[in-house]
Amino acid sequence: MRDADLDLDPDLDLDLDLDLLAYIDALPKVELHVHLEGSIVPALALRLAQRRKIQLPGLGPEGAGSVEDLRRAYRFRSFRDFIAIYVGLSRCLDQAEDFCEAVLGIAEGLAAQNVRRAEMTFTPMTHVHQGVDADAMLDGLAEGRRLALERHGVDFAWVFDVVRSFPDQAAPTLALALRARERDGSVIALGVGGPEGPDYPIDALAPVFAEAKAAGLRSVPHAGEQDGPASVRANLERLQADRIGHGVRAIEDPALVAELRERAIPLEVCPTSNVALGVYPSLADHPLPQLLDAGLAVTLASDDPPLFGTTLVDEYRRCAATYGWDKAQLLAIAQAGVEHSFLDADRKRALLAEQAAI
Ligand SMILES: [Zn+2]
Repeated sequence: MRDADLDLDPDLDLDLDLDLLAYIDALPKVELHVHLEGSIVPALALRLAQRRKIQLPGLGPEGAGSVEDLRRAYRFRSFRDFIAIYVGLSRCLDQAEDFCEAVLGIAEGLAAQNVRRAEMTFTPMTHVHQGVDADAMLDGLAEGRRLALERHGVDFAWVFDVVRSFPDQAAPTLALALRARERDGSVIALGVGGPEGPDYPIDALAPVFAEAKAAGLRSVPHAGEQDGPASVRANLERLQADRIGHGVRAIEDPALVAELRERAIPLEVCPTSNVALGVYPSLADHPLPQLLDAGLAVTLASDDPPLFGTTLVDEYRRCAATYGWDKAQLLAIAQAGVEHSFLDADRKRALLAEQAAI
């Protein structure tokens, strides 16, 4: 992966008519690819950092500084800066109340965008490895999720994920996922993220994913982002993927595109993230329109929104402006989010009806 500037207009001064902007806002939405740690906006990060006396990039010792200092640091200039912020944000989550507050803060931002359901990725072993008590972490997530639904109408489900460079963490991640699921049904899938490529083989993960699938969890690995079609194939075969996080580089292999279409494997596409991390030079160069033309199941997602200067609504706006989408196309991709979620059939029907009524 190469370093890339986040060359996107932060004020999002897009040439869209007000009617289309209002339609995007009003559409009930589902977010299928977003990370908890990467969804913490600067104001929330400052509160958490100062409580736990964590020095985040842009802040002084013990979290001294302002939201504006953090906002500047969020506009990272390289992949290394991105990782530094991400790791710092993870370190701010220590006690149950931190996890709860993070989930609630994120829910507030999602509710403002009319996001009704978020299948949110969370990396439990990063926190456990840093000394966080697993029960406190799961307590905080559960309480945050409960209050998010009650106060903001946002229904969270968790994807517990493994960092590919730490395959030993796969089995304990699954154990935590099953514990959390037993408690409130909140964990729906196992994921894999982190560095991708031949240096990070996934063979060691395969038995754990087989066990997860046998226990009724879904498999949603990241693939086809930093590495090409071979990685997508490997994750489909060895990790029995039900959806692919990103998957955009499948476009480089027509046979793989045909296979994804035939097997109806959805891709969680995060265009702004791909541009910010240098996978494509601009949204105009992004293969999203070709993936749709090829008949693939594509959903639109935001990945680590404040770190990439985006939100889910911004993804809809940018795509409408860049690819000339009209209401019918915006509705179709919002519907795809519902259809390819892991919601039950009744909830899907209800949300699809709400979308069609806008
Ligand atoms: Zn991701």
